[in-house]
Amino acid sequence: MPSVVPAGARRGLMFVLSSPSGAGKTTVSRALLADDPDITMSVSATTRAPRPNEVDGRDYFFVDNARFDQMVADNAFLEWAQVFGNRYGTPRTAVNAALAAGRDVLFDIDWQGTQQLAQQSDDLVRVFILPPSMAELERRLRGRAQDSDSIIAGRMDKAAAEISHWAEYDYVLVNDDVERCLSQVRSILAAERLKRHRQVGLAGFVKDLLAPK
Ligand code: 5GP
Repeated sequence: MPSVVPAGARRGLMFVLSSPSGAGKTTVSRALLADDPDITMSVSATTRAPRPNEVDGRDYFFVDNARFDQMVADNAFLEWAQVFGNRYGTPRTAVNAALAAGRDVLFDIDWQGTQQLAQQSDDLVRVFILPPSMAELERRLRGRAQDSDSIIAGRMDKAAAEISHWAEYDYVLVNDDVERCLSQVRSILAAERLKRHRQVGLAGFVKDLLAPK
C-alpha cells in the first residue's frame, strides 16, 4: 500500500548497521539495498587495500594516506575512525544529498563512527548484529578465506571490543539465520519510516481528513 506521504516529502533517516567483521552485516545490507529503492548505501573512503572482489567506488573509495589526510583537513567526512590500523570515513556530501532528497541512508560503520554520528544527529537508527557464538564468527571469517591467519586473529580480538558496545544501539539482533536477520532489519526500517515525526505531511493530511466536506 502506498504511504500517505509521498517519497521525498520526508527527510531520509540515517540507518546504521554495526557488527564485528564476519557477523553477516555485508550480506544483510546488500540484500536490503537490492530490493528497496528508497535506501542508499553510504560508500566510505578507506586507506585499507582492496580485497579481491572489491570494486573502487562501489564497496569503498580506496584512497592513500595523503588523500585521506586531505579529506580530513577539508572537513569532507561526517565521521571517521581508525579501525584495524586503517582509517575509514563517511564522505559528507553524498549523505547530505541523499537525505535532503528524502532517501534513507545505510551506514556500515563501527561503534566509533556511530558515536560520532549520534553526536551530530538525533535522528539516527542504530542496529547492532551479533554472531550466534564466537566459534561461528571465526568459522565465517575463515570461510571467507580472504584474510591471512594473523589478520583473522586480529579481527577475532577486535570483535570482542566491537561487541562490548552493543548497548549503545537501539536494536540488537542475533544473526543465527541470515534470512530471519534480514527480515528483522526490514521490519525495523519499515517501522522507523512510519514514526510520526518522520511523516512530515501527516498533519496536513489529517487536517484535510477532518475538514468539513
Ligand atoms: P572492513 O575492512 O572489513 O571492510 O571493515 C572493517 C570495519 O570498519 C567494519 O566494522 C566496518 O563497519 C568499519 N567501517 C567501514 N567504513 C567505515 C566508516 O566510514 N567509518 C567507520 N567509523 N567505520 C567504518
